[in-house]
Amino acid sequence: MSSGESRTLVELCGVAKTYGTARVLQDVNLTVEDGEFLVILGPSGSGKTTILRLIGGFIPATAGQIRLDGAVINDLPINRRPFNTVFQDYALFPHMTVQANVAYGLSVRHLPKPEIASRTARVLDLVSLAEFADRYPAQLSGGQRQRVALARAIVCQPRLVLLDEPLAALDVDLRHQMQVFLKEIQRRIKTTFLFITHDQEEAITLADRICVMDHGRIMQVGAPRDLYDRPGNAHVARFFGENNLIAGHVTGVSGSIATVETPLGALAGHCDPAQGLADGDKVLLTIRPEKIRLLPAGAPSPALETTIPGQIARSGFAGPLTQLHLCPDAAPDLMISVKRLSDASAAASAAQVSARASWSTADTWVVRA
Ligand code: ADP
Ligand code: MG
Repeated sequence: MSSGESRTLVELCGVAKTYGTARVLQDVNLTVEDGEFLVILGPSGSGKTTILRLIGGFIPATAGQIRLDGAVINDLPINRRPFNTVFQDYALFPHMTVQANVAYGLSVRHLPKPEIASRTARVLDLVSLAEFADRYPAQLSGGQRQRVALARAIVCQPRLVLLDEPLAALDVDLRHQMQVFLKEIQRRIKTTFLFITHDQEEAITLADRICVMDHGRIMQVGAPRDLYDRPGNAHVARFFGENNLIAGHVTGVSGSIATVETPLGALAGHCDPAQGLADGDKVLLTIRPEKIRLLPAGAPSPALETTIPGQIARSGFAGPLTQLHLCPDAAPDLMISVKRLSDASAAASAAQVSARASWSTADTWVVRA
């Protein structure tokens, strides 16, 4: 349920979807909070579009409940759900002008003509398309068509806008512009957006919260920072940003600190006590490359840090970041990736052969393997 100031708008409880014997979604529990920008992130085929179609009412759930404001809406027809969808292919009417495309949803509701005109004009203004009102979709660029599709979805003032990879067809520069634009529009109209993407960077740029999917299941839901700093499982630790992963087994747990026996010796890291880790459990110790420092061979080891001696194998990135790889003497195959802002010390590290990787227990996170 919701907490603090947020309020749950839509909730999926134990939702499943099967086609014949194919289980496409399993045990999906997800809330969409009022006013948030929620992004569903996952590889192709992981079930993202299926979730969006279930919420929109385009397909029925095989099991579970879909709720709106706490009331079950599984059987509510599409046109009675206060949602609008922006499809990847925009689905604009080719024979209608921009103005007519945007006004369509209001016309079918038989609103008074002056109200239709003023609301349409306001939304076209919002998406910076006022001067294109009389054009036809074929006379617009991809980004402009995308904005018409968005205008058409928000003109009816839906409670929730569903967006299925709407930027996937745009080239990179336009895509970045549209991300900034979408985020800005969402802030201005204060409407809840549920946005689907397979692009991690896009998810981080847009989302208040990200729901990570894989194989029809939700892996984790949280703010981008939480997913990055405290991945809930090995899948998210691997999938979400570059990470060093050191396999081992638990030899002790005390509160939120786990001790793990690894090829590099006994290492400590933080863990979520809710995972219920116990001695002998197989785990991955995770450390982000930017949290690791390289010490010159002779320098003293900092207190309360793990230090691993090794040989520098590779270095790269001439730009703002220097990336180095250290092969630990104890386990040369376990290459440790280190990323530092390019400065004199990074340059000095890159020039060494022997060095020690050093990181803090506070930056080490342990998840079940
Ligand atoms: P995503 O949007 O994450 O790429 P989808 O939700 O579209 O994934 O699809 C999830 C899985 O469900 C895929 O394996 C897909 O082939 C399958 N699927 C989707 N729609 C149908 C359908 N109508 N009949 C059978 N299988 C389907
Ligand atoms: Mg899809």
